[in-house]
Amino acid sequence: MKRRVVLLGATGSIGESTLEVIRGCAAHFELVGIAAYQKVEHLAQIAKAFNVKHVAIGDEAAWKRAKAEGLFDNDVALHSGAEGLEALAVLPEADIIVVATVGTHGLAPTLAALKAGKQVALANKEVLVMAGEWVMAEVKKQGRPILPLDSEHNALFQCIKNEPSRAIKKLILTASGGPFRTFTQKEMEQVTPEMALQHPNWRMGPKVTLDCATMANKGLELIEAHWLFDMPEDHIEVIIHPQSIVHSMVEFVDGSTLAHLSPPKMAFAIQNSLMYPHRAQAVLEPLNFSQGLHLTFEAPDTNRFPCLRLAREALIAGGAHPAVFNAANEIAVQAFIDKRLSFLDIPQVIEKTLAHNWAKSTKIEDVLWADEEARRLAEAALF
Ligand code: MG
Repeated sequence: MKRRVVLLGATGSIGESTLEVIRGCAAHFELVGIAAYQKVEHLAQIAKAFNVKHVAIGDEAAWKRAKAEGLFDNDVALHSGAEGLEALAVLPEADIIVVATVGTHGLAPTLAALKAGKQVALANKEVLVMAGEWVMAEVKKQGRPILPLDSEHNALFQCIKNEPSRAIKKLILTASGGPFRTFTQKEMEQVTPEMALQHPNWRMGPKVTLDCATMANKGLELIEAHWLFDMPEDHIEVIIHPQSIVHSMVEFVDGSTLAHLSPPKMAFAIQNSLMYPHRAQAVLEPLNFSQGLHLTFEAPDTNRFPCLRLAREALIAGGAHPAVFNAANEIAVQAFIDKRLSFLDIPQVIEKTLAHNWAKSTKIEDVLWADEEARRLAEAALF
């Protein structure tokens, strides 16, 4: 029987790779619902190509326009706003919900999908960074794992398999180091958004590409790994691996280390997750070792890349701090893209925002409040 997939965030780069997998494994998957925030023309193309009958549009104005212009066939149910996204997350005919939205948009649909007993495949990092405690509580209740679509976490998931946590010594997250890995502090002062938006290995959206340049992305992934695999912060190491072939490793207590390798394309992690626990023929070319592969590893420099240190500190501080790290980073990155902030000031804004007195929250509402408050304080810290 085909797995019926809902794809939230269908027009982004993860969405695109997910569609590539669904197209390539057409015998295994059927796309039953898609959502995006604003790109209605693109959504309409996908709906037509995959014969999708449920579409959600996050932005109300875009939804109205799609209706007025008749962009979708009459038999397509057009859902709108945050409720529309949630309606798709609990769609009765869906088996698996791919959450590839960005920022905070993915949180409510992820929780709704888990509560409705759906299998969730998660690419939206902020969901776990902000609300890992509550999301993982729902995952535990459901009794089956959330499937990580992030390449590093998919790699860890594959290496860990059914090993008990007492068998694991540490998780080793690999990081490409981004385009400024070899830059001196002096050279980093001159970095422009155009330079930061060029990733050496991966083709991704602008926010995550920029987060790779500051290494804030690896910081977010560290927090994500902590929640997904129930690992304490001091058992998660970050290692620079510029080739992006080894997507992460697990060191076991007996000294064995397992690594996961594939070309740096998101389709591999997505295919593995959507097929789990089975495997299907690869939709893309795998690695070719006979061509020669040179793999190197080195320790990260948290002096030149303080975002990594700040994320770790936020995780240790707990409560709302990871959400504050994430919110302040989003504001600082946008200000850098808008040329209102220099590259080296991005971590400064995050550090200033984290330095406020944040409560050890016990409720998800506290975290959502901290997210908004941190955005306000980070904006204020720009000047
Ligand atoms: Mg990643």
